[in-house]
Amino acid sequence: MQIVRESIALREIAVGWRGAGERVALVPTMGALHAGHLALVEAAREAADRVIASIFVNPLQFNDPNDLDRYPRQEAKDQALLEDAGCDSLWMPTAAAFYPEGFATSVHVAGVSERWEGAHRPGHFDGVATVVAKLFAGARPDIAIFGEKDFEQLAVIRRMNEDLGLGVDVRGHPTVRDDDGLALSSRNALLSEKQRAQAPALYQTLRALAVAIARGVPVDAAIARSIAELEQSGFGPIDYVAFVDSDTLEPLSVYRESSRLIAAAFLGDVRLIDNVSCEMDTVSR
Ligand code: AMP
Repeated sequence: MQIVRESIALREIAVGWRGAGERVALVPTMGALHAGHLALVEAAREAADRVIASIFVNPLQFNDPNDLDRYPRQEAKDQALLEDAGCDSLWMPTAAAFYPEGFATSVHVAGVSERWEGAHRPGHFDGVATVVAKLFAGARPDIAIFGEKDFEQLAVIRRMNEDLGLGVDVRGHPTVRDDDGLALSSRNALLSEKQRAQAPALYQTLRALAVAIARGVPVDAAIARSIAELEQSGFGPIDYVAFVDSDTLEPLSVYRESSRLIAAAFLGDVRLIDNVSCEMDTVSR
């Protein structure tokens, strides 16, 4: 596995692959890798001839400087994991190279990036869209794979890719979970033992909510009950629990296909997000 820091070097490698007729897939990450990230790399290997993973803890997307400071970092371990996963190239840009003095551009995706997560974390999705645009520009991938774990992020990136005509085949990958249902996340390492035991309630509550809505329970009442259940399970404050259109993230008041349940809530000072599909076939499983 080649380790590359400079965008120019990365682009030369990718251009070489494409010149040889090989398809290139990109898996952007912020490191502290777990089985969820590695599932994306595996999917990328199946989808393309060459896989580039990137690790970049993007300062632009941290609206809370504390969160950036305590974000877990484990470079050597991440390199070994990616090598074992069959990644061809690991791209680790530096913040100084990505955002040199005078850097003045920000990508804002109106609408979809302004609700829910966007409203609670001002500037977060501008940081995400800007860095993903830079990652796409550097790697020029045919395919890019993102986790459904960050469902709203995926919707923002799809919109940007479409609007700017970036031409990348943006694919979502299902959330990888622990046996008790908790979505794998680098932030789970920050949970105390007690909080780790409480955390699966987020997924369980969303699953129960999906069943209730699919069966016709009025959306607002069902969401209010779920919020009360989460509070009883130790969560709080609860930033949002919402039933939304999968593409625009606009709130929905009645059940329909192509919808999603999304939530963000604190356990102590650790903020967890999760989401589940509301499609009949997933709900009835
Ligand atoms: P991050 O390093 O947290 O920025 O995540 C990098 C990529 O991995 C994003 O596309 C995430 O959505 C994805 N990801 C993170 N956790 C999971 C998970 N549990 N299952 C699937 N994908 C995930």
